[in-house]
Amino acid sequence: MENLKRTVTCGELKASDTGKIVILNGWVHRKRDHGGISFINMRDHSGITQVVVDETAEESFKAIAEGLKYEYCIAVQGTVRTRPPEMVNPDMPTGEIEVSASLIAVLSACDTLPFMIDQRSDARDDLRLQYRYLDLRSFSMQKNIRIRGEAMFRAREYLRQEGFCEIETPTLIRSTPEGARDFLVPSRIHAGKFYALPQSPQLYKQLLMVSGFDRYFQIARCYRDEDARGDRQLEFTQIDMEMSFVSKDDVFRVTEGMLVHMFRRTLGVELPAAFPRISWEEAMDSYGSDKPDLRFDLKLRDFAPYVEAGSFSVFKDVLAQGGAVKVLVAPGCAGYSRKQITGLEEVAKTYKAQGLAWAKVTAGGLEGGVAKFYEASAAQITRDLEAREGDLLLFVGAPKNIARLSLGAVRSRLGKDLGLAKQDEFKFAWIVDFPLFEWNEDEKKWDAAHHMFSMPQEKYLSTLEQNPGEVKGDMYDLVCNGCEMASGSIRIHDPEIQKRIFAIAGYSLQDAEQRFGFLLNAFRYGPPPHGGIAPGFDRLVMLMCGETTIRDVIAFPKNTVGVSPMDEAPSDVEQKQLDELRLKTVTEEGTQSRKCADGT
Ligand code: ASP
Repeated sequence: MENLKRTVTCGELKASDTGKIVILNGWVHRKRDHGGISFINMRDHSGITQVVVDETAEESFKAIAEGLKYEYCIAVQGTVRTRPPEMVNPDMPTGEIEVSASLIAVLSACDTLPFMIDQRSDARDDLRLQYRYLDLRSFSMQKNIRIRGEAMFRAREYLRQEGFCEIETPTLIRSTPEGARDFLVPSRIHAGKFYALPQSPQLYKQLLMVSGFDRYFQIARCYRDEDARGDRQLEFTQIDMEMSFVSKDDVFRVTEGMLVHMFRRTLGVELPAAFPRISWEEAMDSYGSDKPDLRFDLKLRDFAPYVEAGSFSVFKDVLAQGGAVKVLVAPGCAGYSRKQITGLEEVAKTYKAQGLAWAKVTAGGLEGGVAKFYEASAAQITRDLEAREGDLLLFVGAPKNIARLSLGAVRSRLGKDLGLAKQDEFKFAWIVDFPLFEWNEDEKKWDAAHHMFSMPQEKYLSTLEQNPGEVKGDMYDLVCNGCEMASGSIRIHDPEIQKRIFAIAGYSLQDAEQRFGFLLNAFRYGPPPHGGIAPGFDRLVMLMCGETTIRDVIAFPKNTVGVSPMDEAPSDVEQKQLDELRLKTVTEEGTQSRKCADGT
């Protein structure tokens, strides 16, 4: 290999290099044989260079060139020459030149490919994941993974400048509930006991504040054993941060600064220096979502003021039962067919709405659907809603949250269908004033809406227990383009308040002591007021890369059912390993009574 080591990469040669003798190392990207001449597009991480084996080359040399197949790994020595003007390829950075080969060596051959290495593979997802190492050779995946690396470096760079200390916390920890199910790791040394993989380093980062580190960050791997749903991965990465003696404004400023730096230095994109803030109530009311896509306006409006004057009894009943009637003006959608409207109704129904009422805005007023119930007030309704001829009004009447969420989902669908959102725009916003608790209908109890360490806003402190549903927390989410990008909060640093929160969430003092005793103990030793946030790194990079799934920005992700088709994880393990852990597996039929090695 020594004398075949590259002197240049495949992406760098220019017309000014003409005449140079160079060695290239890389892969056969494409190949054409043309009447005795072979053109080989040779690729490495930096680009593609066209290599030519001329008609006049020796027969044995031509035979090597002809024997090359896609993705053979080769070394080429040759002379750089400018292409004739009609052969110049302006779309290729090396399009002005080609390398006339004088030597080609096959460094390794390549089997028949499961799919072509291209701009982006269109093979099915599981095949791409099975041969992930090949999928990663494509230009789009190379670009994504490199953007990821750069973004990570820029986050570190910024946080270091801001005085943050990077600290690793353990990944084998005590199981502590954080909303999702823990992954458990059996302990061999302490048979019958388990470690958990962290759902996030939450407790550790708070303890680091008690330790006086002041500003901590970690690019942390987190694990949640959740059912496959949407675009989830069992393990994911967060930029985990915590700061002492701060208010939420300080957390916002650092997070905004970090994102501005990451986008500027990674993509050359300039984000605004500060992001708008929207209360949770306002987000739910106007967009029907706590992660609204703000790239388009399209706000939900309250239809209650018009219900009384109309004659549609369904809406009247909804209001009488304390529900809400919301309306959305779908611009230019009056021409929608029944089928299209039914399609939108299906979206609303997935959020538990009973139906989606509609009316078309015409020159004469409202027409079709529920229009007949509002003839007298049609003019006022269209005026107030600023609806124009050709628009479609869409209504949901339901309990308040269902009305908001279901019409919010219709809003998102319309945004996509009508192409209202620009693909290359990034609309960040803070959502603030979240409810601290949410009602768990299955278990008939209050759950912490985020995690249990978030501070209630001061004005609710004296009445926490009386109406937990009303309590707003010092909690915040960062959203962008309809995705939740980060969540965080100012934390409780008073053990008494912490105990009250545990109690409301259904933990007895004993339970709480047992599970979080170490945190409560630490809080007896002068904990500083502190707060933090954890931007989800995979989603952030997905957004930066313009992708729609986080799988496309993770080098080796699992598929949608948590399997890695490449190495076939999760897999069976040897009986000996189970024995050492004193574990027995139970199948549907019952216990497989496998004996431990020592006969127990
Ligand atoms: N640990 C939280 C989470 O994973 C984030 C935070 O509160 O900092 O969502």
